[in-house]
Amino acid sequence: MTTTYKPVTLHRGKEESLKRFHPWVFSGAIANADPSIEEGDLVSVYTSTGTLLGNGHSQVGSIAVRMLTFDDTAIDEAFYRQRLLDAFKVRQSLGLLRDDNNAFRLVHGEGDFLPGLVVDIYGHTAVLQAHSPGMHFARHTIAHALTQLPGSLVQNVYYKSETTLPYKAHLDPVNEYIVGDFDTDVAMENGLLFHVDWLKGQKTGFFVDQRENRKLVERYAAGRRVLNMFCYTGGFSFYALRGGAVAVDSVDSSAKAVSLTNANVELNFPGDTRHRAFAEDAFKYLDAMQVGTYDLIVLDPPAFAKHKSALRNALVGYRRLNARAFEKIAPGGILFTFSCSQAVNKEQFRLAVFSAAAQSGRRVRILHQLTQPADHPINIYHPEGEYLKGLVLYVE
Ligand code: SAH
Repeated sequence: MTTTYKPVTLHRGKEESLKRFHPWVFSGAIANADPSIEEGDLVSVYTSTGTLLGNGHSQVGSIAVRMLTFDDTAIDEAFYRQRLLDAFKVRQSLGLLRDDNNAFRLVHGEGDFLPGLVVDIYGHTAVLQAHSPGMHFARHTIAHALTQLPGSLVQNVYYKSETTLPYKAHLDPVNEYIVGDFDTDVAMENGLLFHVDWLKGQKTGFFVDQRENRKLVERYAAGRRVLNMFCYTGGFSFYALRGGAVAVDSVDSSAKAVSLTNANVELNFPGDTRHRAFAEDAFKYLDAMQVGTYDLIVLDPPAFAKHKSALRNALVGYRRLNARAFEKIAPGGILFTFSCSQAVNKEQFRLAVFSAAAQSGRRVRILHQLTQPADHPINIYHPEGEYLKGLVLYVE
């Protein structure tokens, strides 16, 4: 079916990025918009000479339209079903649906050609997050389309957008099951179990984006004393335990995160005395820590820069944090250091870490350069989708 929606016409020459399939229309590019358009409406975008560029969701703000198609395809349930099936096939070809793995990201916004939508899968539950009003209005259609995926993969859909929608849109989303109900909150990643608190936890309840990087920590853990700083639900800790670490300390400023970590360690390694968890501020902990206490340190802080305006302070933050680790890690130690700030690029992050290393005066080698896993794909026309950066460093 082909359909056109309320029209939006661009200024002359402003169609170039759309012709290269970049999915955002900035408000400054718009010459004319149908006055009846409301936030979240489906719109058709035209060049100044009246050629249709595609259809998308309208939004109030600097990004005025998020493009869903670059032709006249209708945005209906069949559309969502097809895009979800495409996303599913990618995850299937990545080998993420296995007996020992049932947690992964099914939809990563622009990376899956569905700007404004995130879907994480935990067993038979999909946690659906709308980042745009358009996706909020489409939530029931999307939820129904999710249940049509092969193998009855999705049986429950939990909608969780209380904190992800622009508050100015006054949509007052309620976090709730929109299909099915609670079945289990235990999911599995690479054979390790964890509770997912999608009701109250951060993001969709677990950071699925560190799966591959946790596996790498497992490889380096044997015989090492490990510090997992900013542990949240303890992902890096239980991989380190499986990898044969002699001791693992998990630290997070949130007491809730510490109890989640303890529960997850208990789920996999009941009664294991190698693990301890502390609710403490990272900087306080690192300052008080003796030199040489740990041979492997993971630093996975929250995004220091949520916006470009916070970039300078964020870079100072990364430098200060990493400097502490370089000063204190045992000789021959391995440092896993990350940034999930989209506003900080790979080079800027590397420079911050480089400055921290130089400040410590130690010899440091880069062993690995890490990124987000393949179930968080980057749309080649939307480089802004790259956000997770990591370095694995050998510190003499
Ligand atoms: N590494 C985790 C994800 C980390 S999310 C994983 O693999 O799942 C970032 C965490 O940092 C959150 O749990 C948050 O509570 C914690 N945090 C934020 N500020 C902190 C601080 N100043 N000191 C210690 N932890 C902090």
